[in-house]
Amino acid sequence: TENSEPGASSEALGVLRRVFGYDAFRGEQEEIIEHVVAGGDALVLMPTGGGKSLCYQIPALVRPGVGVVVSPLIALMQDQVDALRALGVRAGFLNSTQDLDERRMVEAEFLAGELDVLYLAPERLRLESTMSLLDRGKVSVFAIDEAHCVAQWGHDFRPDYLTLSALHERWPDVPRIALTATATEATRKEIAARLQLGDARHFVASFDRPNIQYRIVPKNDPKKQLLELIHGEHAGDAGVVYCLSRKSVEDVADFLVAHGVAALPYHAGLDARVRAANQARFLREDGVVMVATIAFGMGIDKPDVRFVAHLDLPKSVEGYYQETGRAGRDGLPSTAWLAYGLQDVVQQRKMIDGSEGDDAHRRRLTAHLDAMLALCEAVECRRARLLAYFGQRLPEPCGNCDTCLTPPVTWDGTIAAQKFLSAVYRLARERRQKFGAGQIIDILLGKRTAKVIQHDHDQLTVFGIGTELGAAEWRAVVRQLLALGLLAVEGEYGTLVLTEASGEVLGRRRDVLLRREPEKPSRARSAPGK
Ligand code: ADP
Ligand code: ZN
Repeated sequence: TENSEPGASSEALGVLRRVFGYDAFRGEQEEIIEHVVAGGDALVLMPTGGGKSLCYQIPALVRPGVGVVVSPLIALMQDQVDALRALGVRAGFLNSTQDLDERRMVEAEFLAGELDVLYLAPERLRLESTMSLLDRGKVSVFAIDEAHCVAQWGHDFRPDYLTLSALHERWPDVPRIALTATATEATRKEIAARLQLGDARHFVASFDRPNIQYRIVPKNDPKKQLLELIHGEHAGDAGVVYCLSRKSVEDVADFLVAHGVAALPYHAGLDARVRAANQARFLREDGVVMVATIAFGMGIDKPDVRFVAHLDLPKSVEGYYQETGRAGRDGLPSTAWLAYGLQDVVQQRKMIDGSEGDDAHRRRLTAHLDAMLALCEAVECRRARLLAYFGQRLPEPCGNCDTCLTPPVTWDGTIAAQKFLSAVYRLARERRQKFGAGQIIDILLGKRTAKVIQHDHDQLTVFGIGTELGAAEWRAVVRQLLALGLLAVEGEYGTLVLTEASGEVLGRRRDVLLRREPEKPSRARSAPGK
């Protein structure tokens, strides 16, 4: 099945031009489409905006029968179907938002061969009724969108996706194309295994988004820092600001509005109508800043988003890549900006400790967070780091990220690390106590706060031994020790404990190189292209 039947490619090209109105294929689209049209299975990794949809829509139109697209993005199905219909493609969807009559109608169209493309929510495939429906019609191709959802190792696992292995068992002759915008080597292997894509050809596009300038800055006054970014470099630009909680979404949106920025909130707690209206304004008006939880953005195709800002640490590099990838889909210079601080690390570790699920689940979450922290603390090219995470190599430093533009200054933090870790050790050893970073820093700085007096912590030998650094510098040390795995956070109060590796530092068998915090949050340079 390696070579397509003669004419397949020109037929695909004809559809591209006639139906979609584009002149030429992009990147590997043509090869992928030819391969699938000829009946081959494919696993496609392509960044957001790369043009994945055509890779299954065109085979669906060229091959006889109905292309079935499995997608978890139920909220977008109506829009996707409307967009296809506007092009004259006969499209429909089946998901839980429909009433019985609507579903019956779509089913009838499917059986009558009156559809080219049928979108299907994954949970429908758990139902034997759906399976037998597919049996009675003719399926031309199965497309599995957001295929990383099948991988437990990934960052967005959805149990319903596990049922998708049944597609191959029940319809071995129907080609399948699995698509995703994020997958590490491990996730890719898991996708192939779980979907039984052993014979699939892999198409892996470059994940580099050269027009996006990546910047990660220490968080000190996040709202003010964000405002500086917007006023200084992105005044009047469309942007997305991601926050972890609904409350901070509201808070930040209010703050921006009060400072003259056209900002709107978006989170799952808002009324559906408000959400839809805000999304519509973001898409249609110029220069709207959407302040949102990560509920926002999946499948949103707005080409001129000039910046994506994170005020809280993403839970994984995959999430970070996906969210920042919403910037600059038009290829013009854009900014991905993240402010991150010690509190982020403490909070996320606590969330992992308190999360439901088994140890294996917590280990996965921890591994994802550790990778994200390593990216934040990277001293070399951010883009190279990011791509390396997805198994791709950048031949040389990019010249368009904060660490390339302003190489971080490092310093020998071995002694500082020893002091901090000794304080943790003394508290545990002599007092059977555990504390958070704030108390330990107060001890090192020799501050006689009420809490220090109350616990007699001014009697510890480590009291006042760390006055060579300020509190902010100590927090940066702690943050980096956490990222390096030389210190760990525990329990609901975010207390600090030593790790196995801490011993190497305390025993002077390991030096600790730390990055110096810039005096002011790094402004790499004025926005590129402006
Ligand atoms: P993805 O699903 O990979 O994020 P899409 O399929 O939504 O990307 O495509 C991104 C944008 O690029 C869409 O607006 C799409 O119409 C456009 N596009 C895709 N392929 C082509 C092409 N060959 N020529 C021109 N535009 C294209
Ligand atoms: Zn770089």
